[in-house]
Amino acid sequence: MEYINNIYSDAKSLSQTEKTILDELKKHDMSPANCIWGTSICSDEVNNSFLSLGTHFKAPGPFFFGGISGLPFTGKTGFAAFASHIPDDGGALILFGPHIGISADGTVGKVKREGQADITGCCGSLAAGLQTVESGSVPVEDHSDYQQTQVSKMLIEKHAELKEADDPIIEATEIAYTQIKRELNDIITNMKETLGDKKLLLAGGILINTDWQQEDYFELRDVIEF
Ligand SMILES: [Zn+2]
Repeated sequence: MEYINNIYSDAKSLSQTEKTILDELKKHDMSPANCIWGTSICSDEVNNSFLSLGTHFKAPGPFFFGGISGLPFTGKTGFAAFASHIPDDGGALILFGPHIGISADGTVGKVKREGQADITGCCGSLAAGLQTVESGSVPVEDHSDYQQTQVSKMLIEKHAELKEADDPIIEATEIAYTQIKRELNDIITNMKETLGDKKLLLAGGILINTDWQQEDYFELRDVIEF
């Protein structure tokens, strides 16, 4: 769709993305019929648009690495658990990335959700983090809001880039992409022995949510084999 590709030029519909991901698995000598899958994507239920991919995989999935914003809050312990669930002689796929809404009227950072008349924030966690940056307040460690504190910290560290950005929510999404990729890479590198000789493929990109009647999009950025 033009209003999406104007911002994310390589974005494809989720049905096309599904084919691309299955092709990538094949290219890496992996078969979804013998793989489990996980995601490091924000908890927001709009992102369940991706779940149809699960029909191709061996075991019920996905394993959810992501908390809000998509950062892999399950950490090394979560990864070790996931790795121990891989089918014998099989492999694993982790799909990762932040999400951003683009509503049909072109508003970036918002979508119209089923059952609602007005558009609402998407990703709400990144939007809340931006508000913290704009207010200049320092996030206080709060166990009742642990994940958001970490998201706000991530964005505060990049306040200079956010201040310069034409559209802060697009920039915040880029910052989140880089951070999710880095954290997953660190976790997997640290825990590589838990994989044994089993293959793991990481597919990362930006998930673009559209108004609820329309199909979502994904801009695939990285495919990494471990
Ligand atoms: Zn979100």
